[in-house]
Amino acid sequence: MDRRKFIKNGGLGGAALMGGAWASSCKDDPQEMENKTKSLSAPMVIATWDVPNATAKAYEVLEGEGSALDAVEQGVMVEEADVNNQSVGKGGRPDRDGHVTLDACIMDKDSRCGAVVYLKDVVHAVSVARKVMEETPHVLLAGEGARKFALEMGFPEENLLTEKSRQEWLEWKKTSKYEPVINIENHDTIGMLAIDSNGDIAGACTTSGMAYKMAGRVGDSPIIGAGLFVDNEIGGATATGMGEEVVRTVGSFLIVELMRQGKSPQEACEEGVRRIIAKKENYRDIQIGFIAVNKAGETGAYCIHPGFSYRKFSERGHENIPAPSYLQS
Ligand code: ASP
Repeated sequence: MDRRKFIKNGGLGGAALMGGAWASSCKDDPQEMENKTKSLSAPMVIATWDVPNATAKAYEVLEGEGSALDAVEQGVMVEEADVNNQSVGKGGRPDRDGHVTLDACIMDKDSRCGAVVYLKDVVHAVSVARKVMEETPHVLLAGEGARKFALEMGFPEENLLTEKSRQEWLEWKKTSKYEPVINIENHDTIGMLAIDSNGDIAGACTTSGMAYKMAGRVGDSPIIGAGLFVDNEIGGATATGMGEEVVRTVGSFLIVELMRQGKSPQEACEEGVRRIIAKKENYRDIQIGFIAVNKAGETGAYCIHPGFSYRKFSERGHENIPAPSYLQS
């Protein structure tokens, strides 16, 4: 469908594209249907943290009639290639032994998904994850197998440890104190969700994981259902922060399921964070941030500590939106 026509006819086109619970929850209330349909804004993209270059790239793909899947892949690749982002891709902070290891996943409108964990020497982990999805009968490849597969697929082999990250690691080794830092920088693990002009949703998530993690540690980011989940009938969610807690609560899946039950993306993200807080006595020591989008293009975000934000790019413009937080300071 032509994008401009789609936006212009948002009421009809949008309603026709709605699936599952959203449509049925609105069908008896024409006013609610009208209000919700007004908020429909495709194409659009959101991403964890203030990553304007990544969301701009994704939006460019969407404006060129690209799919949500292409948009999220190309969008997060911007951060993977940015050596100044020390939480993702090349330049990421290493594990305790000085190795940069990457985790990533991707999920499309048909619930196809692919992931890599503990990937060394290849910058674009998200693209390797997509190849796992498209070229293998599997969902997740790990470690040496993932690396071998990537090289066979033609991805270049590169040293991911930059001098800056190496020097910081050498400094860290003097004390070797493992203490995850809250809001370590303005842009962190990147999770991205996009809706294309057909109203289809896809998502991607990519990270170098917690700085100075144990060798072999994998967090939530490449785990479908934890760091990312998309259901094209309902919406998508993705996470950043202390991955172990997101895995324990299957955070992104939970948020999509809460939206299926009728919660708004904002309400669902708040409940996702509350579940973690309820089971974690020392929740003040950690940061978790969720973002979500539903089929109507409504978005939400919530975190434990202030400081987390998300980038949104739609036909209404490009903005950095601070997420409300459970703690106020
Ligand atoms: N969630 C990531 C992990 O646990 C880290 C992050 O978002 O900063 O590996």
